[in-house]
Parts: sequence; structure tokens; C-alpha cells
Amino acid sequence: MRRACVIGCPVEHSRSPVIHRYWLEKYGIDGAYEKEAVRPEDFAAFVGSLAAKGYVGANVTLPHKEAALRAAESADEAAAVIGAANTLWLDPDGRLHAGNTDAYGFVTNLDAEAPHWSEGLGPVVVLGAGGAARAILYGLIRAGAAKILLANRTRGRAETLAQAFGPRIEVIGWETRSRALGACSLIVNTTSLGMTGQEPLDIDLSALPGDAVVADLVYNPLLTPLLIAAAKRGNVTVDGLGMLLHQAVPGFERWFGVRPDVTPELRAYVVKTLGSG
Ligand code: NAP
Repeated sequence: MRRACVIGCPVEHSRSPVIHRYWLEKYGIDGAYEKEAVRPEDFAAFVGSLAAKGYVGANVTLPHKEAALRAAESADEAAAVIGAANTLWLDPDGRLHAGNTDAYGFVTNLDAEAPHWSEGLGPVVVLGAGGAARAILYGLIRAGAAKILLANRTRGRAETLAQAFGPRIEVIGWETRSRALGACSLIVNTTSLGMTGQEPLDIDLSALPGDAVVADLVYNPLLTPLLIAAAKRGNVTVDGLGMLLHQAVPGFERWFGVRPDVTPELRAYVVKTLGSG
């Protein structure tokens, strides 16, 4: 039996077991996917003994994504550029490799939910400069975005990302975020605003072109106040759940040897578990 896990601290909230166990059953694979709560000080030792624990690989969630990159012997381009890994796998010689599939998940989901989003793409407004924003900037640049206006409450974090990702990123003041929407083709909320238990994202969409796409990384709730406001004025909206489902695909394929499909049935199955711990 092949076994994988998600490593986090805390890990209870992770939806990864729901997704991977669904696929294991769907494809009739003799495998298992566990949750492993590991404290930061124990992380290096834990991944060092993945094989001894019977695992072929793992997903990594907060706060271990940077440590996962450091622990691996090699990293794919996405993990190296983003500076964090969310997927680990052991090769047949026992060497540990790291990847980051968040940018892949984000872009693949946009392609699925808002086809043609990248054709003739004008400026993109990205809100937030935390860990998730790094993956989004990497994905957008790879997808051809020529200009990204980046706003974050703490401006210094946005400036750091602009230095890391180069001249396509222009840092704008957090207080100018509504005004920046005028010629924008796509907005991406990478902040945690709008999540259950957090304040909503305060933004005025009235300047946003009617054909702009509005994407939110938050998936709990599925329909954030931002997405509700955008849908009300006719903009195409893309929620965070699709990204979560698509980012899981490459890991599952590496560990279990089958490239799984993201289907409406999987989505409905995961939606039922949201908010239930
Ligand atoms: P993070 O590193 O903690 O960053 C949080 C971001 O939110 C920062 O930019 C922070 O600004 C901003 N923020 C928090 N509270 C704010 C407030 N009151 N006003 C203005 N800005 C505020 O978190 P993360 O890992 O990037 O995750 C961000 C969100 O993305 C979370 O909701 C997470 O669940 C979601 N996410 C979804 C997926 C998916 O697959 N759909 C994947 C990854 C993450 P400061 O820098 O000023 O603190």
C-alpha cells in the first residue's frame, strides 16, 4: 500500500485528506492519505524519516512550506522561485524532492472557470503580499501578465515581492486599491479578508470594467463578499476552491501513479465538508 500525508500545525482544518481519499476510492487504488500534526521544531526530523514512516510523499501546509523547501534535496522551478513547497515526494533512491503546485492550481482553475482570461490581458490587480501571493505572482507572470499592480496593507511586504518578481510588478498603495481597478482585466484577492471569522475585503468595484474577472483565493465561505459583489454587477467570478482542488492533482499523480480529474462531483463532495472542521 502506498501512503501519503499532509503535514501541518495545526492540520485538522486541512481539506487535503478529503480530496485525496476521494480520488483513492474513485480510482480503486490501494493507498492511504493521513493527517500529521508536526510542530515546527520537529519538522526536519519528521520529513527526514518519511520513508521509515512508510510514506512516499506529503503535502505541506502552514507553517512548514519554507522549511519543506529547505529540507528537500531538489526543488522544481515553481518552489524555488516562490520560496516555499507544498508537495514532497521521495524518488526510488530515497531522495526527497519538493514542488509547489499552488501557481499551477490557480492558473489551471482560471483556465477552467474563465476561459480566455489571459487573452489580451490588461493590468492585473493583486491584493495581498503573503505566502499565497508569491505563488499567484509566479503563476501570473508565467501566464504572460505584463503588468501587475500589487497592493498590500503592509507596503514593505509588497515592495519585497516586487524586488523578487521584477519590473512587471508595480506596488500601489493599499488605500488606492479601488481606484486602481479602472483598466484592470483581473483582480485576485490573496489576502485572508473575507474568510469566515475575518472582516470582508473593503473595496469599491464601481470602476472595474464589466469584462474583468474577479478571483478570490478564500474558499471558506465559497462565495465571499467580494465575489458576491462582483457577480451582482455581472463580472465573471472564480472562487478559491477550484485552486485547492487543482493544486492537489500533481501530488496525487506522483504518489499514486494516476493523474486524477477535478470534476463537479469532487467539488460538490468537498463543498459538503467545508465548515465542518
Ligand atoms: P498570509 O501569508 O498570512 O498573508 C495574509 C495576507 O492577508 C497579507 O497580505 C496580509 O497583509 C493580508 N491581511 C490580513 N488581514 C488583513 C487586514 N485586516 N487588512 C488588510 N490585509 C490583511 O496568508 P496566505 O498563506 O498568503 O493566505 C492568504 C489567504 O489565501 C488565506 O485565506 C488562505 O486560506 C488562502 N489560500 C487559498 C489557497 C487555495 O488553494 N485556494 C491557497 C493558499 C492560500 P499584511 O501583510 O499587511 O499582514
